[in-house]
Amino acid sequence: MILEIVKYGHPVLREKGQRVAPITAAIRQLAADMLATMYAADGVGLAAQQIGRAILLTVIDVSISEQEWTITPALPMPLVLVNPVLSQPLGEQTGSEGCLSIPEVSAQIRRANQVTVRAENLDGQPIEFQATGLLARAAQHEIDHLNGILFIDRMDAATKASFSGKLKKLQKETVATLGKTASARRPLVKA
Ligand code: ZN
Repeated sequence: MILEIVKYGHPVLREKGQRVAPITAAIRQLAADMLATMYAADGVGLAAQQIGRAILLTVIDVSISEQEWTITPALPMPLVLVNPVLSQPLGEQTGSEGCLSIPEVSAQIRRANQVTVRAENLDGQPIEFQATGLLARAAQHEIDHLNGILFIDRMDAATKASFSGKLKKLQKETVATLGKTASARRPLVKA
């Protein structure tokens, strides 16, 4: 099932995720729905906050991208990460970044070029990998979401100021829709 992607201005995007335990059938279904939602929106990652749930669950698939990335050991895409934790940031990369929750906003964002991710998979088994390039960027972006942090928080002040009108407008639109039923699903926007 394709879920509605929560947009900037919704308070859930600023909530820290709760730990997921135990991993129930409902969580597995949610992960499957998040993957379907991410693919439908042409995204490379989606965090639970973006579909309105403040829990430590994110999905990532960078396999369609032409940008460089590595994963060690070689785990297959997509990645479903339960309770992920980032460590050992190394090096630096700067690249264009956008967010499915903040349409029509993108900017150059500085991130670590390599990170170590520890998480559980949907079977509750621990997984650990080193990611570089685009995958490291996606992991940092999504794990930020799980902590209530958005990529606009990582923009330099001048860049963020240049989007202030757009962000205010989006926030206003989002707040106006809060409390209304989601029966009229809005079209998904590529970002
Ligand atoms: Zn995002």
